[in-house]
Amino acid sequence: MPHVGVLGLQGAVSEHIKQLESIGCTTAIIKKPSELSSLDGLIIPGGESTAIKRLMDIYGLTEAIQSFNKPIFGTCAGMVLLARDVTGNPDLPLGLIDLAVQRNASGRQRSSFETSLTIKGLDKPFNAIFIRAPYCLQASEEVEILATHDGHIVAAKQRNILVSSFHPELTGDSRLLELFVRMVIMNGSKNSSTA
Ligand code: GLN
Repeated sequence: MPHVGVLGLQGAVSEHIKQLESIGCTTAIIKKPSELSSLDGLIIPGGESTAIKRLMDIYGLTEAIQSFNKPIFGTCAGMVLLARDVTGNPDLPLGLIDLAVQRNASGRQRSSFETSLTIKGLDKPFNAIFIRAPYCLQASEEVEILATHDGHIVAAKQRNILVSSFHPELTGDSRLLELFVRMVIMNGSKNSSTA
């Protein structure tokens, strides 16, 4: 199984580690650029995107993640950080997926909600937990839309990048993570066959 890191600066880090280990991945909590090289894939967790970005800049992780060139899964704040454009926050996005997003669009913390989502690639609906979630306002044609809620894109994929507005790590359902791990495995075998 692949070795997957979770960006460990702030947010729902341990929940992702637990879910990754439950499906047999080896894991690492990433706080420095040098720790990225041993990974097959990376998760940027939910939390507070402004705080995560500030720490990424301080630790030199912004450019290191932009040139990581392996699969990355961004959940909630992670989706905000991976986007091309964030309304009102031009310094936040890393520009790794061609989405324009709005932060906190699903409402305040106390209006967090769960809903049953149909996600492309998963056999049955997924119980998605939204906490001050970003919504996607616009996606380019390069982006594959995997799920929508209320007319907004809430899960999407482009090349090596997967994003969800919601928190799959807070459920006992690891199917979306397994979809990401399949992307990681396929990327690894593609690289080894061209090496
Ligand atoms: N509101 C957060 C942000 O944009 C994201 C919320 C979350 O990750 N649950 O930073």
